[in-house]
Amino acid sequence: MKKDILLMVGPTIVPERVIKSMNTQVISHRTPEFSVIAKELNENLKKVFQTENEVMTLTGSGTSSMEAAIQNCFSIGDEVVIAVNGVFSERMAVMAETFGLKVKRAVYPMGQEADVESVMGFVTKETKGVFIVHNESSTGVFNNIEKFGEALKDTDILLIVDSVSGLGGLNLEVDNWHVDVAFTASQKALMGPPGLSFITLNDKAWKACKKADIPKFYFDLAQAKKMNAFAQHPWTPAVYSIMGMNEALKMILEEGLQNVFERHNKLSKMVINGMRELGINLYPKEERYASKTVNTFKFDKSPIFVNKIKEEYGVVISGGQDSLFNCTFRVGTMGYVTETDIATYLYAANKVLKKI
Ligand SMILES: *Cc1c(COP(=O)(O)O)cnc(C)c1O
Repeated sequence: MKKDILLMVGPTIVPERVIKSMNTQVISHRTPEFSVIAKELNENLKKVFQTENEVMTLTGSGTSSMEAAIQNCFSIGDEVVIAVNGVFSERMAVMAETFGLKVKRAVYPMGQEADVESVMGFVTKETKGVFIVHNESSTGVFNNIEKFGEALKDTDILLIVDSVSGLGGLNLEVDNWHVDVAFTASQKALMGPPGLSFITLNDKAWKACKKADIPKFYFDLAQAKKMNAFAQHPWTPAVYSIMGMNEALKMILEEGLQNVFERHNKLSKMVINGMRELGINLYPKEERYASKTVNTFKFDKSPIFVNKIKEEYGVVISGGQDSLFNCTFRVGTMGYVTETDIATYLYAANKVLKKI
């Protein structure tokens, strides 16, 4: 049978070239051979994060970097402001509370962006950090990170950005935009195999780490940074995922970051316009903040649509998340996706919608 067209929201389709790069005998992570790969990966990660600072690779999905950010930068009882406009930002808030932080939630209706003016309204002189999700994969909304950086750059407050479904698909200029901590994962726009996450901290954040008293061990970032200097890891990393990720980043940089962003933009427009012609509208309240990586649509027959388009046409898209399961579906334009894939999806969507 012919291969499915994969337009999921994570893990995303892994290119053949990446799969091939992992088809080899395992190597020890304590060898120069491994360090050659890790060094190349580290250098390319800096390019995609658009930072001069070290980027650490953690073995664990995106949520592990979320945990590392909280454990390493804060102390029990610290006040933080978390912009909540979807499932992942709420996860961050619950996690921060789990580690004993005093969380002030700036809550927005689902499908709406978190705007900087109102989030800053929650900040007091006690606030130690502001957390924001770059691209809310549950609602298909992206937030304007540049404006948050502008608002916080001359303060001691850390700006922590979850860009798990953004980085590699949406522009994120970590240094230029004064993002203090940014993290992402391997399996979304970076089109790598699942199992890794990547996190970077600037000097302001490393300074905060020195004072932080939350217990940590596996995700001790000071330890990871020390080993990173030798292109090594504190523990046995996911060696195969690192090989695959290294290859995926090469592909991204060969295409060119700006070209990659433009491709995401173009494919997203194609999906949004195509669905509109079929009478299906975006879930985000305004198109100006609609994601270019996770295109989310309102549709009261979403679960049937998602099933039928897979069963009958081999096109795999994602259903709505949590409370949005019955009323939304999501089409990923993240990573290794082409115009032909989207054209096929739209063809199949048209056929399926006529039937249901
Ligand atoms: C996927 C995702 C995560 C992390 O999920 P993992 O399953 O732990 O990789 C976090 N935030 C956002 C916005 C995501 O899309």
